[in-house]
Amino acid sequence: QKPVPSDIVISRSCVPKPIDCMAREVGLLSDEVELYGKTKAKVQLSIIKRLQSQPDGKYVVVTGITPTPLGEGKSTTTIGLVQALGAHMNLNVFACVRQPSQGPTFGIKGGAAGGGYSQVIPMEEFNLHLTGDIHAITAANNLVAAAIDARMFHESTQTDKALYNRLVPLSGGQRKFSPIQINRLKRLGIEKTDPSTLTEEEITRFARLNIDPSSVTWQRVLDTNDRFLRKITIGQSPTEKGYTREAQFDITVASEIMAVLALTSSLEDMRQRLAKMVVATSCSGQPITTEDLGVSGALTVLMKDAIKPNLMQTLEGTPVFVHAGPFANIAHGNSSILADKIALKLVGPDGFVVTEAGFGADIGMEKFFNIKCRYSGLRPHVVVLVATVRALKMHGGGPTNLELLEKGCSNMRKQIENAQHFGVPVVVAVNAFKTDTDAELDLVCSMAKAAGAFDAVRCSHWAEGGAGAVALGQAVQRASGATSNFKFLYDLELPIADKIRIIAQKIYGADDIELLPEAQHKVELYTKLGFDNLPICMAKTHLSLSHEADKKGVPTGFILPIRDIRASVGAGFLFPLVGTMPTIPGLPTRPCFYDIDLDPETEEVNGLF
Ligand code: ADP
Repeated sequence: QKPVPSDIVISRSCVPKPIDCMAREVGLLSDEVELYGKTKAKVQLSIIKRLQSQPDGKYVVVTGITPTPLGEGKSTTTIGLVQALGAHMNLNVFACVRQPSQGPTFGIKGGAAGGGYSQVIPMEEFNLHLTGDIHAITAANNLVAAAIDARMFHESTQTDKALYNRLVPLSGGQRKFSPIQINRLKRLGIEKTDPSTLTEEEITRFARLNIDPSSVTWQRVLDTNDRFLRKITIGQSPTEKGYTREAQFDITVASEIMAVLALTSSLEDMRQRLAKMVVATSCSGQPITTEDLGVSGALTVLMKDAIKPNLMQTLEGTPVFVHAGPFANIAHGNSSILADKIALKLVGPDGFVVTEAGFGADIGMEKFFNIKCRYSGLRPHVVVLVATVRALKMHGGGPTNLELLEKGCSNMRKQIENAQHFGVPVVVAVNAFKTDTDAELDLVCSMAKAAGAFDAVRCSHWAEGGAGAVALGQAVQRASGATSNFKFLYDLELPIADKIRIIAQKIYGADDIELLPEAQHKVELYTKLGFDNLPICMAKTHLSLSHEADKKGVPTGFILPIRDIRASVGAGFLFPLVGTMPTIPGLPTRPCFYDIDLDPETEEVNGLF
């Protein structure tokens, strides 16, 4: 077999179709498409209305077994599968994938465009700025952070009257409320629109948010693996008069605004979600929202282009939507609902949309079903579970023999069972590496079928492109015709602790959960504030079914400790923290950026993978 060249060499060897041709091919009208150069375009949301009566295509989610830190090829399989279905089986297809964060691209893991002969191209566009959506999120997020600290500062240095006069300034001799301020008055129960009629008491209530500085949960973000921002002190300049506060940066893709983008269903819905985000509580314990800060309209303006999915293509010329990229640990790890919905309309009833859920089935897939599908109302037809011999050997305890591989298949069996909890047929894709033997690949396929998978096929799309995933494509097509009895794992009306316990016991295999004091306090607080009906977004290591990354296979006999719980009220979930979860990665001694450079002659980017 010929050696497979590097990802960037393969990506560059293929001339992409002009993206306006791709847009026409998939049925987009020219005024629905906004071109960003020759290889990327944004698609306007008006298409949803135009195609509302068109039946949806088949919906396929790609997930995986518990991976090694290298990843087992979910992105590569997502792209290989659509190349097979589209370019080799002549079906209408769309892949819907996440936009990668620049943190990992320059840090340890590299890009996320797939790999080998199954990639989104041009991979340097995909892995770097794309069309600026992540930058827009950074801008919006940090505007909220600036608004919180500035507001606390102004409130603590001014009298009620002075504060009010500045919040509602004189213009042409008269004071006038902005529409956002009138909304706030309504929420306070003050049905007035004329600023001169407010009583002293109403002025104080309106002007002061009384944010408790120790309750601020909103953090600044950056899309860089900058470990020195994990804990910072802000306000150290003399101009801030000693109002210093300990704070932190998170990576942009872990932010609530990223999760809002991924879960929203329209511009109006995004405006509402961006207004509902809770950033702190007041000294009397009331939630303080972005709407209270008056910033929600501005956030919507900053996000107005980011809400439009980005059209790109695979190496074999099939269409891809790249849209939203929430982290899979502390956020829900799935690409946008809007991209999936538009793609399902564009492919029509006989076509396929393949979307990817981050990390293993215990994390990304569970959140795909219980959070993303709950908000979208979409029901998937098939789960594709990616397995590799190398990861299954790791679960079995060693790289050497078939017995250890067989033992490690327990993890695959459990992840198949996890998918079956949702009533959707599972096809196992055994992603073949060149070091795998026939005996190993056959063993994994037969173990998968014995575990109840609808089918299990080996595939070689990394080395051969779509041609190497035709058997997978055919299995997926057959499975999409099988009966699916979709159901959620838990009811939203259950108490918070019960919902967490169901996930811990049924998906992770825990005996029980233990709510540590901070988590217990949050359960009481969120129940009191009425946030208890939200779905749960577990923040747990992806390297084990349990909370301990070094416990491989199928750990049993453990109690899952819940350290704390946070609320993303605008995005619409509660996220329990299992152990400590870094919210901004760091750079290793030898980061990927050492290899990345630009050739000034050709302007080509080198070194990405
Ligand atoms: P995931 O989406 O599960 O994290 P990726 O699809 O990003 O995994 O793949 C992880 C890395 O492994 C990528 O660099 C990819 O090119 C490589 N890879 C995937 N499948 C294969 C394969 N069959 N042989 C060799 N390398 C592979």
